Amino acid sequence: MKIIRSINLMQKAACAVRKSGKTIGFVPTMGALHEGHMSLIRRARKENDCVVVSIFVNPAQFGPKEDFKKYPRPFAADVAKCRQEKVDIIFCPGAHEMYPSGYKTYVEVADLGNYLCGVSRPGHFKGVATVVAKLLNIVRPDAAYFGQKDAQQVAVIQRMVADLNFPLRIKVMPTVREHDGLAMSSRNAYLNREERQQAVALSRALRLARSMVSSGTRDSRTIIAAMSSLIKSQKKAQIDYVAIVDASCLEPVKRIARKALVALAVRFGKTRLIDNSILKP
Ligand code: AMP
Repeated sequence: MKIIRSINLMQKAACAVRKSGKTIGFVPTMGALHEGHMSLIRRARKENDCVVVSIFVNPAQFGPKEDFKKYPRPFAADVAKCRQEKVDIIFCPGAHEMYPSGYKTYVEVADLGNYLCGVSRPGHFKGVATVVAKLLNIVRPDAAYFGQKDAQQVAVIQRMVADLNFPLRIKVMPTVREHDGLAMSSRNAYLNREERQQAVALSRALRLARSMVSSGTRDSRTIIAAMSSLIKSQKKAQIDYVAIVDASCLEPVKRIARKALVALAVRFGKTRLIDNSILKP
C-alpha cells in the first residue's frame, strides 16, 4: 500500500493505473475510519482493480466555530485499517497542498446547499463540493463511493457530477449503525455516556417516522411533530431540524405521496449528529 501526500505523485500513480487498463475505485474520507467508512472501502475493493482512499480533513467545509482543530486524526490506526482491507493507495495531502496561497476557485451547487444542514452550516456544502471536485480531478476514478448517512452531501455531489460532466459512477452505500441503531460517525467519539445513551433517539425517531408512514400517515407535519416530541423527551437533545424533503431537490414535502427523505440534525452539548431514512408510502 502506497501513502501519497503530493497531488502530483497521486496524479502520476492514478495515470499509471489507468494506462495499464485497470479500474480505480475511490473513497473520499476525513479519516477516523469506522465501520461506515470500511463498508465503502470493502465495496470499492470488490468492484475495482485499484482502490484509492483519501484522508483529508477539509478546512473549507468547517465553519469558524466548528470542530476543525479537534476533529479526530488517528492516522496510524487509519493506515492499519486500510492495509487490512487491501487498499492500494492512501492519498493524504496537507491543507497547503490542496489550498496553496492564492487559492481562489470554489464549486457551489445552487440551492441544494442551503436547505437542511446548510442552514446552520453556511458554506459547508460549497467546501464539500469544492474538495470532492478537486479529489475527483486528481484521482479520476471510475467509481466513487459515498454513504447514505450524509444524504444531503450525496444530493449535492450527484448534482455536481451530472452538471459538470465528471466521467464516473457515484455509488451510494447504506448507513452502518451501532447495535442500538445510532448511525456510526467519527463525531460519536465526542459524546459522554449520558449523551451517547440519549443519542439513540435519532434512529428511534426515524423508525417512528417509517412506522407512521407504513400505518397510513401521509401528513409530514404530523410525523415531524411526533418525531420531535420523541427526541425532546431526551434531556440533552437540542433539535437543529427535523424535515421531510424530496431526496434529490431537497425541497420540503407536505404530503408523502411518493418516496421521500426524512432527515434530522440534533445537538448533544457541542456535538451535532445527523441521520436520515427513506420513507416509502
Ligand atoms: P467522512 O469521513 O465523515 O467525511 O465520511 C466519509 C464517507 O463515509 C462519506 O461518504 C460518508 O457518508 C461515509 N460514511 C460516514 N459514516 C457512515 C456510516 N455510518 N455508514 C455509511 N457511510 C458512512
